[in-house]
Amino acid sequence: MQLKSTRNKAPEVNFTQALFTGLAPDGGLYHPLEVKNLSSLFYSWDKNTAFLQIADSLSQIFLHTELTNKVITKIVNRAFNFKPEVRALDENISLLELFHGPSCAFKDFGACFLASFMEEVLTEENKHAVILVATSGDTGSAVAKAFYAKNNIDVVILFPRGRVSFLQEKQLTTLGGNVHALEVEGSFDDCQRMVKEAFQDDKLKGSLNLTSANSINIGRLFPQSFYYVYAYTQVKEKLEGDLIFCVPSGNFGNLTAGVYAWCWGLPVDKFIAATNINDIVPEYLASKEYKPKASLHTLSNAMDVGNPSNFERLQEIFGYKHKAMAAMIHGEVVTDKETLQVIADVYRQKKLFIDPHTAVGYLAAKRMLADQAKRPVHIVTLSTAHAAKFREIVKQATGNEPELPASLKQALNLPKKSTAITNDTKELADFLLHTFL
Ligand SMILES: *Cc1c(COP(=O)(O)O)cnc(C)c1O
Repeated sequence: MQLKSTRNKAPEVNFTQALFTGLAPDGGLYHPLEVKNLSSLFYSWDKNTAFLQIADSLSQIFLHTELTNKVITKIVNRAFNFKPEVRALDENISLLELFHGPSCAFKDFGACFLASFMEEVLTEENKHAVILVATSGDTGSAVAKAFYAKNNIDVVILFPRGRVSFLQEKQLTTLGGNVHALEVEGSFDDCQRMVKEAFQDDKLKGSLNLTSANSINIGRLFPQSFYYVYAYTQVKEKLEGDLIFCVPSGNFGNLTAGVYAWCWGLPVDKFIAATNINDIVPEYLASKEYKPKASLHTLSNAMDVGNPSNFERLQEIFGYKHKAMAAMIHGEVVTDKETLQVIADVYRQKKLFIDPHTAVGYLAAKRMLADQAKRPVHIVTLSTAHAAKFREIVKQATGNEPELPASLKQALNLPKKSTAITNDTKELADFLLHTFL
């Protein structure tokens, strides 16, 4: 897979190079150059096709020029010891549950693939890398779990003291081993700034192999396309009319991954970009004007993004044409009040807990369905997190609390291991040099 930067001022790279680089040197995002048509392959798969087979086949097709078949299969098998589940919710709406992985959120698919890939390549080259991440909660827990106990890699996670939830803090700080939690006296913005400054520090760069794992990395995006294909194989038997995917979105990585699958020939008729009141993309689709704003705090806080980073990739895919994007993507906006109402309704009607992000998607899907009137459609709406990760909100909406999955329960009883530092990048640099040199 050859990739170029969305800003066109950086050399072309292959997938492995893009994965270890993260952001392109010109500040753009890496974007695949070539479009393959895999529709006959997709057509040949059905509900008995395993997720691992789909993940392996797609990885082979795109990566065989860089890695051997055997290595690719090893990376894929080590990445995914969990899989997506499709749950029929209404006659025309299915949930694609993406929270059965180690941190109980969809980010596990990208983080686990990235970790497995990096471990394999670094071990092969006999190199060591230090992954630096700043987190406001969810990304950090997925990355921590994914990289835990991986060979040749240490992870350093910066989180703002007192500003992540109790459960998130437990997920970040109880692993130990090669996962180092740094509790920063400051805000999430401080954490992000410190990571950026560390990457620009020549002394650090010269002595440590520093790498990032944030969500713009193509190594996290590519594997997210696999579950769109899987969802199609699961519903295709009962598919009569259009297939629509509804994606609760923040930085739009998840939706972009779905659009890539469509570019490869997956028969998707439409995507719904479902957001909370941080409605920059729905606003763009309706008005043709892209106006980034400061993010607003909502109940679906993993989607509180005021300037979605993957919008650049979507622009690239649709040739910078508003009309082309608006023909394929429909925007819906859901408020906090509506989110609570949907969580309550689904619980009352179906005895099912859904998390606030999933609720945003589900309401958007219901609205779209009502608009379609008599046309036969099936909407697959992505369920991005386990309801127990947002217990307080779910309890507020339903009066009941979802049971914690075993993996999260376990973390609650383990002792916290973290290092406190101030928001001065020099302290971060000292920690890194002291720990890894
Ligand atoms: C990150 C996240 C999202 C948003 O995904 P994007 O790829 O940033 O659009 C939605 N729901 C949950 C639970 C998340 O953690």
